[in-house]
Amino acid sequence: MIDIEKLQHPDCIPDRQEIIELLSLQSPDDIERLRYSAEQLLLRLRGKEVYFRGLIEFSNVCSCDCYYCGIRRSNTDVLRYTLSKDQIVQSAVWCAQQGYGSVVLQSGERSDVASADFIEECILEIKDKTISQQLPEGLGITLSCGEQTEQVYQRWFDAGAHRYLLRIESSTPELFAVLHPPAQKLQPRIEALKALKKIGYKAGTGVMIGLPGQTIENLADDILFFRDIDADMIGMGPYIVHNATPMAHFQDEITAQSEMIFKLSQKMIAVTRLTLKNVNIAASTALQAMKEDGRETGLTFGANVIMPQVTPVEVRKNYLLYEGKPCLDENAEQCRTCLSLRVASVGRTIAYNNWGDRR
Ligand code: SAH
Repeated sequence: MIDIEKLQHPDCIPDRQEIIELLSLQSPDDIERLRYSAEQLLLRLRGKEVYFRGLIEFSNVCSCDCYYCGIRRSNTDVLRYTLSKDQIVQSAVWCAQQGYGSVVLQSGERSDVASADFIEECILEIKDKTISQQLPEGLGITLSCGEQTEQVYQRWFDAGAHRYLLRIESSTPELFAVLHPPAQKLQPRIEALKALKKIGYKAGTGVMIGLPGQTIENLADDILFFRDIDADMIGMGPYIVHNATPMAHFQDEITAQSEMIFKLSQKMIAVTRLTLKNVNIAASTALQAMKEDGRETGLTFGANVIMPQVTPVEVRKNYLLYEGKPCLDENAEQCRTCLSLRVASVGRTIAYNNWGDRR
């Protein structure tokens, strides 16, 4: 039996076999030891502080057709929208006024020149409008706009974005292949992550947990993938079925396993913390879709980032990646209050006016 406590040491890294063993833990006592060790390591390395990244889902227009995703190109039920530059900038300025420190601009994937230009203009204006005494370099800007060419990534970096989220979804080639149409391949996504790192972005990646056919070994390989690519941030969450997708028929199977998938998601956070040590790990919104206190429990398993919703309420219902996405009706102000209480409820504090990068 692996000595879980020794993994609290910053130099003690579990190997593949040990990662598999940790992800397989079942008894409440063992899972509590895992949780406690991950939390202790985080507190020692990073302290109690949780970083807020205001999430602006600025467009659901997408040219991809991922089989799991509710806003996939082929879902014609979705009302497509793109926020105006003013709406995006106003939402970002609101975040800066709240002291959030950073925003995430997330959207579907587009590869046309007009959309690359548009995003560049938004970055420039957000930077211009948010430089202040509290934020001498302006808001930290994270992008999550899918796979792009190295040139586009470079332009956005030069405009002032410094972090990028691009989940690998699954690092196992066979599993990636059954989740995506043949035109969407794993290798270019890996190359995109490498390009982001090369340019100098803080790169974030992650996977969905509980995918049909996914094994504990696959998840262990995902954690090793995060390490090998030298990810700065990790965002992971449970896979949740969306009814208007080609994977809708998995609904009953996934529902029957939801308790197991939730626990596995918590264990993934803890084992990722114990393996990658100093990275930023987000407590994803999808955790809260499964359980009311899902995000807070993510913090207690070693996560240190939360992404409060700041997408204007009127379009939020059109950005449904999965069924039952929480916080659809609350405005940004309500999300702020609610999340502050949730963070405090697990004994943590919010780091205001701070980009909160991995050091
Ligand atoms: N277009 C961007 C952003 C994608 S949406 C990109 O390609 O990176 C952000 C994330 O939502 C995805 O990376 C995926 O991991 C997650 N997601 C999509 N559908 C989901 C579902 N049905 N259940 C859980 N997470 C989902």
